Amino acid sequence: MDYKPLSGREYPRFSAIKTFFRLPQVPTTEIYDVAIVGVPFDGGVTYRPGARFAPARVRELSSLGRGYHWSRALAVFDRLKVADAGDCPTVPIDLKQTYSKIEEHFGQILRAEKRFLAVGGDHSITLPLLRACRRKAQQKLSFVHFDAHFDTYPAAWDCEYHHGSFVRHAVEEGLIDPTTSVQIGIRGPLAGGDDLEFVKKHGLRTITVDEVRRQPLADFLKTLPQFVHQPVYLSFDVDCLDPAYAPGTGTPVVGGLTTYETQTILRALKINHLFAADVVEVSPPYDQGDITSLAAVDAMFECLCLMASKAS
Ligand code: MN
Ligand code: MN
Repeated sequence: MDYKPLSGREYPRFSAIKTFFRLPQVPTTEIYDVAIVGVPFDGGVTYRPGARFAPARVRELSSLGRGYHWSRALAVFDRLKVADAGDCPTVPIDLKQTYSKIEEHFGQILRAEKRFLAVGGDHSITLPLLRACRRKAQQKLSFVHFDAHFDTYPAAWDCEYHHGSFVRHAVEEGLIDPTTSVQIGIRGPLAGGDDLEFVKKHGLRTITVDEVRRQPLADFLKTLPQFVHQPVYLSFDVDCLDPAYAPGTGTPVVGGLTTYETQTILRALKINHLFAADVVEVSPPYDQGDITSLAAVDAMFECLCLMASKAS
């Protein structure tokens, strides 16, 4: 099996059956390095739905993806065998059943010695993904979290599990180590000052948009933490971007990062062991000209390159 994207010279990028990055669709029983997997579920949203349609739309737009990372001098699809492993089964009207299916499905992928890049879905899917990773890694993971929101919020309508509470559960269940984790792109307004209590109590580092913008971007990049020893899980919620750059999302917050800023931060990250990653909260029905899906494709590419590269 040749794990290479379909050539745009032979088959123009608007042609052919859509798979992630035009890669072959291969079941996870085969031997390769990274499985890209859709998780079409938006039963955990508190505002706009639509993320269930993201895997299909992102597959379509990923036809425009390219394989060579300029600044890392890395041909990612030469270094790693990557395949589209299809979608994870979900139950659109039941979060609990969906969580079981996600944990089981991704547990199998990890047991087959593969890493994964999941495409949500709303952010509630990250909790069962982290549970599967924690079990496989047999240690807490460092968590690199791009988001406008802390996602440490309390139960909503008496429901513990939703897209705004998974970080709290991940800390409380011992899945991630908050003291070696970071949240990037956070901004207000908040529901109340007590929104800050959880991250303070657990020593979770928060990088606000103000902190990114307070100095020249090149100087800010030097302040990024480096991830040398622990395995890392990276989660990219597209609402870290300003709605001008990512309108197609469930819970937009103005005053966000630009696509260039997140791209530059992702390019500068040094992660020795990226265990797994996800890109979530793309809601194609609210998108304009597919700019949100395109931003997601770029973040996915950076995640794949991080999986292929060692920090030096
Ligand atoms: Mn989120
Ligand atoms: Mn968010």
